[in-house]
This record gives sequence, C-alpha cells and structure tokens, in this order.
Amino acid sequence: MNRPPYIGRFAPTPSGYLHFGSLVAALTSYLDARAVGGRWLVRMEDLDPPREVPGAQAAILQTLEAYGFEWDAEVVCQSQRTDAYAEVLQRWLEQGLAYACTCSRKQLEGSNGLYPGTCREQNHGLSDAAIRLRVPALRYGFNDRVQGTFAQDLAREVGDFVIRRRDGLHAYQLAVVLDDAWQGITDVVRGADLLDSTPRQLYLQELLGLPQPRYLHVPLLTQPDGHKLGKTYRSPALPAEQASALLLRALRALGQDSDAHLAQARPAEVLAWATTRWDASRIPRSTTLAEASLD
Ligand code: GLU
Ligand code: ZN
Repeated sequence: MNRPPYIGRFAPTPSGYLHFGSLVAALTSYLDARAVGGRWLVRMEDLDPPREVPGAQAAILQTLEAYGFEWDAEVVCQSQRTDAYAEVLQRWLEQGLAYACTCSRKQLEGSNGLYPGTCREQNHGLSDAAIRLRVPALRYGFNDRVQGTFAQDLAREVGDFVIRRRDGLHAYQLAVVLDDAWQGITDVVRGADLLDSTPRQLYLQELLGLPQPRYLHVPLLTQPDGHKLGKTYRSPALPAEQASALLLRALRALGQDSDAHLAQARPAEVLAWATTRWDASRIPRSTTLAEASLD
C-alpha cells in the first residue's frame, strides 16, 4: 500500500518558552518532513491554562520564525478544539467505555502511577470527577524509527487512564490523537519523554478507527547532571542572534553533518543545507543524550 504524502508537525505546549531540547525536536520533525518534500504544521497544545506562561505562545512562534522555520498552514490551537474532544468523551461515557473517577491524589498515592480501578464499577456522577478510559489487558506496541520496538501491557503497566481531568480540562492523550488524525499527520516526531504515552495513543487510535502514524522519538537532551533540559528550571527564550549556531549544535546532537562556516549563514540557509543532508538513521539510538557531550 502506498503511504500518503508526508505531513509532520511540531506541537509545543506553551507552559514555557522554546528551549534547546524543544528546538532539537522541532528541527528533527522539520527536516524529516522537508527532506521528502512533505508538509510541516505547528499546533499549539494550550489545553492547560493554569500552566500556561503568558506570552509563551507568541514567543514560541517568534523563536521558530527567527530560527528559519516555515509552517504550511495556520497554527491550530487545541483550545479551539474542545467540542471535538467532548463529543468523543460523551460517546464513550454512554457506551460504558469511560467512567467517572473521584479518587483523590492522596488515595492514589502508593499505586505507582498505575490506577487500581477503584471507581470502575461505582457509577459516580460526572461532577467534580475525572473521566477515565477502561483499558484492555492487551499489549500495544510499535516500531519506532529511532527507539526500535516498544510495547506496553496497558492493564498491567498503565491502568485506566484520565481523558478528562477533575478540573474539567481535557487531557493530552485524547487531544493529541484526535488532532493528529484531524490534521492528517502521517509522521509523529517528538521527544522520547512521550515514548511511554504512545501505547495509550495506539489504543485510542484503535477505538476511534484512526490510522496509525509512523513514530520517531528523539533522544531527550539532559543537563550534565542527568536532569531533563528545560523542565527542571525555567529556561529563557532561545536567543535569536544565536539561531544559526544553535541549529548547528542541534544538528551535531542529532548525528548529522554540521559545518562551522555556516554559523555565519542565515538560519533559513542552515535549514535548507541540512534538509539536503538529512539522514534520520544517524540519530543516536538512545532515549537521552547528555548536553555536555555536544561540543
Ligand atoms: N505538547 C507536547 C509537549 O510539548 C508534545 C506532544 C506531541 O508531540 O505529541 O511535550
Ligand atoms: Zn477512582
């Protein structure tokens, strides 16, 4: 069967500015799309207003622009898509696939992130409750282009998971699956922190009868002390004047050709140059990369 033409995307959460780790993910997704003449979209994952940093949406887009990225359609914001998420939730509640959970954080302590199924048969009302999706005792796995095969037994390793939070906010897992399909995404390229969300997303795709995209999970850059870059402290926005130098540094992290002379070139030229040399098979096959080893 012929694959549909490539459509990739970068889907930042505006809970902070773009940091070097997210630049590496954006760059991978961009080059992987452009190298095959594909389309590339940007989607703002703004589903969590309490965690949003004011001005971050605009700042992220400005940084992408300053770094030479061009996207092919208007930016989609998940905050505009809540009707689509609510419709699916409603259907699953009616079918008994989803149910209300009133467990407090405290009650769930000690279950190691694995929901014990306490509310499964309780028929709680929906007010002041999270909504969870029942998961089957089945393995969901896939072949990642960088990380290789990855699978999880959803019942044993994840448990029934939250698709709408108790505060009424829609959860990432369902939104990402609906939006990737709605935008016709063929290739999901993102940070390896989401590798262990992917089996849940495969299950959601199956329930919804949606096609499964290809996946490429980019190694996460860590600080020399092993902490994930950008999450443990508030990173400042990436400086526009260092765009070409930081793009070249990101290329080196990704195992790609780099050329010090290009530090003087415009960022768009660096991207064009890197597109023609892109080889995803050279990305280091690991889930993390220490930042300090890049220079
Ligand atoms: N919004 C997510 C993040 O910033 C990425 C989601 C995805 O690429 O699937 O971590
Ligand atoms: Zn519960």
